[in-house]
Amino acid sequence: MPAGTRSSAERVNAERLSADITALGRFGATDRGGVNRPVYSPADLAARGWLADRCAEAGLGFRTDAIGNCFITLPGSDPNRARVWTGSHIDTVPDGGRLDGAFGVLAGLECLRTLAAADDDFRPSATVEVVAFADEEGAYASFVGSRALVDGWTVDALSALTGRDGEPLADGLARIGSSIEAAAEVPTITAAAGAGRGAVAAFVELHIEQGPVLENAGLDIGVVTDIVEVGHGTVTFLGQADHAGTTPMELRRDATRAAGAFLVGLPSVPAEHGSPAAVATCGMVSVEPGAANIVVEEMRLSLDVRDRAGGVPSLQAGVADLARRCSADHGLDHRLEWDSVTPGVALDPDMGQRVADAADRIGASHHRMVSGAGHDSQVMARAVPTGMIFVPSENGRSHSPAESTSLAQLEIGANVLLEVLRDLAS
Ligand SMILES: [Zn+2]
Repeated sequence: MPAGTRSSAERVNAERLSADITALGRFGATDRGGVNRPVYSPADLAARGWLADRCAEAGLGFRTDAIGNCFITLPGSDPNRARVWTGSHIDTVPDGGRLDGAFGVLAGLECLRTLAAADDDFRPSATVEVVAFADEEGAYASFVGSRALVDGWTVDALSALTGRDGEPLADGLARIGSSIEAAAEVPTITAAAGAGRGAVAAFVELHIEQGPVLENAGLDIGVVTDIVEVGHGTVTFLGQADHAGTTPMELRRDATRAAGAFLVGLPSVPAEHGSPAAVATCGMVSVEPGAANIVVEEMRLSLDVRDRAGGVPSLQAGVADLARRCSADHGLDHRLEWDSVTPGVALDPDMGQRVADAADRIGASHHRMVSGAGHDSQVMARAVPTGMIFVPSENGRSHSPAESTSLAQLEIGANVLLEVLRDLAS
């Protein structure tokens, strides 16, 4: 090594990371080129075993808690310092992709290998851990593993959970050698710190964007500021069913007229009532009575509105105003119903700045953005300062075998993560 330079720990080994992504993708691989690896499935168990082997090979610690969260550990030189956490998940949606979640865990593993290989001067003083959270994708419930670490679960709440095929959670836990009772005793981060088992100083999650924003902007890195707030609802326009042949046009109360005007107006609502990240979608329509020769009496439209934390009520007000105007213009009634809002989460601004600074140090282009999808980070943010790093998704595709990101961009993301971990842990 030339004098005056650091050890090889400066950057991650992209080929090793790429090989790991390919290898992990074989567990639960589908004919269509995707991955089907729900939590506690045989494929998930095999993937955990493979991950434990990689850790043993690299001299890193590996353990699993009673709810199935996996922890990869590189001990720091100062045992009194709070731990630094990164990670994501290795479970997938049915026929999902190879990168969603897996990239964050494997890049974390690669960062720990890189840090472990550094000269003593560059070894972190804080312990760094990679967490693979159980059931991020909600086979039993959303964020089962991270909620155990942040909120804790009761025996009753866990007993009520069943998988997509109706399987009780207890059966899934039995496959990892655990039980509902043991899972309910997984200590929260706060409880563990109180019991002297080490506090967690910060959490940073590296993830694919799962949308087209970074690719369209030609940027390397997204610095996530917020995780989206979501409002679901329905609007139903109410007219009158009449004979399609005998009812003159001017005497009809046709629900499709107001609904049509509403659909034309809906795309303007985010711009008028939301932040630049706001979106509004109608993904399902249904009509009653639903026959070719009957004027539509009821037309029901699904609503999905999203914005950064705190932004949904304003979008809902905009939708309500639009619905009122459309039904009044056509002499109809309407009914607007909203489910409870899934709150958005603002991530830690200091963590965001650390991610942006890390990207600057390695010459990666970046911008701040809202995550349109949910992540374990939104749960972790309730307990510890949390940041998220996005890399571009090819054509914005995700939750599908088409999920892809170039190795060059995965490498940039992993190196930004490495810089952030070094910054937090040194
Ligand atoms: Zn994910």
